[in-house]
Amino acid sequence: IRRLSSVETLGSATVICSDKTGTLTQNEMTVTKIWVDGQFFDITGTGYQPVGEFQVDGKTINIRDYPAALTTLWVGVLNNDAQLEKIEENGGTYHIIGDPTEGSLLVAAAKADILPETMGQLYPRENEIPFDSTRKRMVTIHGIRDLRPDLAPGTLAEHGEEYTIAVKGAPDVVLNLCNRYQAMSDTEAHPLDEEARKRILDANDAMTKQALRVLGVAYRVIPAMPSEVNSDDLEKDLIFVGLIGMIDPARKEVKPALATAREAGIRTIMITGDYPNTARAIAEQIGLLRPGHGVMTGSQMNELDDDAMRREVMHTDVFARVSPEHKMRIVDALRYNQQVVAMTGDGVNDAPAIKAADIGVAMGITGTDVAKGTADMVLTDDNYASIVSAIEQGRIIYANIRKFVYFLLSSNVAEIMIIFLATLAGLPTPLTAIQLLWLNLLTDGAPALALAMEKGDPDAMQRPPRPTNEPIINGPMQAGIGIQTVLQTGAVLGAFVVGLLWELAKHGHPVPEGVNPLVFLIQFKDWGLVGEDVRIAETMAFITLSLCELFRAYTVRSERASIFQLGVFSNKWMQYAVGLSIVLMALVVSVPFLQNIFQTHFMSGPEWTVVVGLALLPAVGEEIYKFFLRRSDHKKAALQD
Ligand code: ADP
Ligand code: MG
Repeated sequence: IRRLSSVETLGSATVICSDKTGTLTQNEMTVTKIWVDGQFFDITGTGYQPVGEFQVDGKTINIRDYPAALTTLWVGVLNNDAQLEKIEENGGTYHIIGDPTEGSLLVAAAKADILPETMGQLYPRENEIPFDSTRKRMVTIHGIRDLRPDLAPGTLAEHGEEYTIAVKGAPDVVLNLCNRYQAMSDTEAHPLDEEARKRILDANDAMTKQALRVLGVAYRVIPAMPSEVNSDDLEKDLIFVGLIGMIDPARKEVKPALATAREAGIRTIMITGDYPNTARAIAEQIGLLRPGHGVMTGSQMNELDDDAMRREVMHTDVFARVSPEHKMRIVDALRYNQQVVAMTGDGVNDAPAIKAADIGVAMGITGTDVAKGTADMVLTDDNYASIVSAIEQGRIIYANIRKFVYFLLSSNVAEIMIIFLATLAGLPTPLTAIQLLWLNLLTDGAPALALAMEKGDPDAMQRPPRPTNEPIINGPMQAGIGIQTVLQTGAVLGAFVVGLLWELAKHGHPVPEGVNPLVFLIQFKDWGLVGEDVRIAETMAFITLSLCELFRAYTVRSERASIFQLGVFSNKWMQYAVGLSIVLMALVVSVPFLQNIFQTHFMSGPEWTVVVGLALLPAVGEEIYKFFLRRSDHKKAALQD
């Protein structure tokens, strides 16, 4: 968490807008299918281990018999910034340095013995237009040092031209830059007519429906290095070669985390540059797409005016083919609908949306510094499930602050009322200044600190998000403070009155026959007769109030769950706080030197009985109040169903 105040906001989040690739999915791409000139090839093998076979209709084939398929892999290796690295230590496992999308292309090519080292020597990269999310493609220009007919595309070998342009990117984007296509075994490129275009787009469709992330590749040879690298000159007249499909499995924690979020009344929206089919397939797999909710693309979004967008955003769960700029509109539309939005992002272009969201979330691993600098929160593992955990923590922390406030406020209001009412009735002051200081510091302070360590209610993620405009001291808390004030004041004054009556009786002033003891007390004005002080009554009031707080500290540990649902001793800090308070309290009433300072005396058995009995009242009252709160919750829930 980069900004502490966002913890509070986290607790009230209602929508999580999450990137798909890497956040909902593992971002461990494996190329499983390629398509070239009407032919699908399956590629076996899992992970980054470059071991696998090429198959057509389930039968293993030699990929060298399909020149255009080789060209597809060839472009994928040239137009690539990733590295495949073998780690010798742990039994020769492989890992990717760079973008997993690109890494997977290296793995697939390596399965056909097309290795980046060889390719780099034969076709060194001279220039490039790097990938960006808005252009959705990447262009590289390579010199040709040596011709290798077994690796190079046929046309290239024929003409012996000196430079080649390699392009990969979103298939429709790449296709729009092409006017020719490569047939499987011809050496000539064919004109790309409508029918050929349709075949390619249909194949793309079929692949995306299988949840594959699909890239298109194309190339062109040029006689001389262009004097200027700009997209208009380079990205035209390209020869379309093939489609590469990769799977990116959902993270396994995502499905349960999504279910938890939903139970907590939090919606999740998927945002991706990928195709709608791919996005939909994955959204359905992980249970993100709800019945009746739809998928919208960036270009559909462009058609909508703000009003329509604000309506649509409430029942669109997946935004596909969007650019980072679209995220801003999504955030705006959601916020217009009073939603509290968490928005993830990694790129520089994501920064405005991260900033505009209530909770901006940047990726810790793949995120740029700009994204991280703008965000409220950085995900160190790039994982959606961590956002849900953060929301849970946010709720728990907020709830603990509330318990703290509730505990301290109700005990302090009670203390004021005790002194106030006793004074009003003309009784001696029940609590001395030093006793009050002691109460505030120890019996209020220590358990309040322990409340901050509460692990959270069992149903923290089963309740809807807290309304953002709700004050921390909300209605139920105000009622609770009222009830506690009445009970604690009653208990403490009760103990005090009993103590006073005992003391008066001891000094020869028993309550006369037929007179109400309370009336007798209030009318008794000759307090000087009692002796130097009213130690018995004062000690009883002091200890009653101390014990009230200590008993009640256990029930305040949840606003709704009963103490038994929580487990009485489940917060060890509470044991330390209460234990410490009890030991010190015992010293104060029994060590003579401290007795003098605190105006206490060593209490008798009957005194203890009265004190403990009365001190239990507020805690019991609290539990009964919580029972009614739970019952009204159930009723509300039943009404909603
Ligand atoms: P996402 O990663 O969520 O799909 P991006 O904005 O990163 O979104 O990518 C947009 C599109 O650009 C992708 O769907 C893919 O078609 C294409 N693409 C992604 N990475 C690369 C890359 N390294 N080189 C070329 N094209 C890419
Ligand atoms: Mg990406």
